Amino acid sequence: MASVKLKNVYKRYAGGVTAVNDFNMDIEDKEFIILVGPSGCGKTTTLRMIAGLEDISEGELYIGDKLVNDVDPKNRDIAMVFQNYALYPHMTVFENMSFGLRLRKIPKDEIKRRVHEAAKILDIEHLLDRRPKALSGGQRQRVALGRAIVREPKVFLMDEPLSNLDAKLRVQMRTEINKLHQKLQTTFIYVTHDQTEALTMGTRIVVMKDGYVQQIDTPQALYERPCNMFVAGFIGSPQMNFINAKVDKRGDGIYLTFGKDTIKLPEGKAKKLEGTDYIGKEVILGIRPECLHDEPAFLEQMSDSLVEARIELTENLGSETYLYMVVDDVDFTARVNPRTKARSGDIIKIAFDTNRIHLFDKETEKTIM
Ligand code: ATP
Repeated sequence: MASVKLKNVYKRYAGGVTAVNDFNMDIEDKEFIILVGPSGCGKTTTLRMIAGLEDISEGELYIGDKLVNDVDPKNRDIAMVFQNYALYPHMTVFENMSFGLRLRKIPKDEIKRRVHEAAKILDIEHLLDRRPKALSGGQRQRVALGRAIVREPKVFLMDEPLSNLDAKLRVQMRTEINKLHQKLQTTFIYVTHDQTEALTMGTRIVVMKDGYVQQIDTPQALYERPCNMFVAGFIGSPQMNFINAKVDKRGDGIYLTFGKDTIKLPEGKAKKLEGTDYIGKEVILGIRPECLHDEPAFLEQMSDSLVEARIELTENLGSETYLYMVVDDVDFTARVNPRTKARSGDIIKIAFDTNRIHLFDKETEKTIM
């Protein structure tokens, strides 16, 4: 069993930095877990504690059913792939991949079998006699993965393995690593600061900030139901738009007012606010760029949620266009059909898809709905 369990795990560095606070998670066998968050949030420290490269200050870490707090890295049945690949320049690809196995005194035939098998999976069989300097960045990355695969570990740990590759190769290797996970059917734990990488790779994502886990969920759940403003803003690109809004109850329903604009909440959402302390108070309204519309059909359909926007800039990406605009003195981004007629300087009506708006508590920044 290659499950990993973290129970009330803390990391306190000398000097008073608590890099990880009360981390709790049950990672199941064969999951692909992504640790994501801004620089300094504690994701690498968490990975290094799982690897055994960093002591755990408090709490328990299990790999399978075994408590491994005091188990040496080499006896944890894990393999780690680093950002800088850490290949030996004077060794061939074959030697690089087999080095760890030779140290473990694995029989020669077995080493050969494992290296060739891994090389086949990674499509680098033709490179086994080359040295790292004769390889491209992507090929080096494959060798680093190969070196981890030959160990046949229960758990793969990866720390920003794609960050040294150019944008195109990164997207390609992302797919490769996804395929690799499917082929190997082992547990992957992967650190990145890139939310796109997180959304496209993980079966579950752990979003961290300042040493605290914010939310653990599937990519879709994180995107659709973020637990607070931080997660809502961190996951998704371009990021969610936010604006302060007042909740008003009127005869025919509940409205949100900001500046000179007012939009009506759909019945389902209004019901949830009915009778709460939020009536008459300010909240933070969040709406994703793709939930803002400028097409006439939408404007007609969503006539009770129209606002006025001044277009500052448009960006046509071919398959979609971003409208950068100002709504009541706040910057907004909309992702619309590339055939939009909106141009810089225009003042246009924009419809909010109110079924997909998010509301956050102004003080705690936690999700209200
Ligand atoms: P990055 O994406 O920049 O690598 P991260 O999320 O992986 O960031 P960590 O490297 O885990 O963050 O660091 C978490 C916190 O712990 C940071 O505030 C960092 O400065 C601190 N830290 C990391 N290593 C040490 C150390 N050896 N001694 C003291 N503080 C440390």
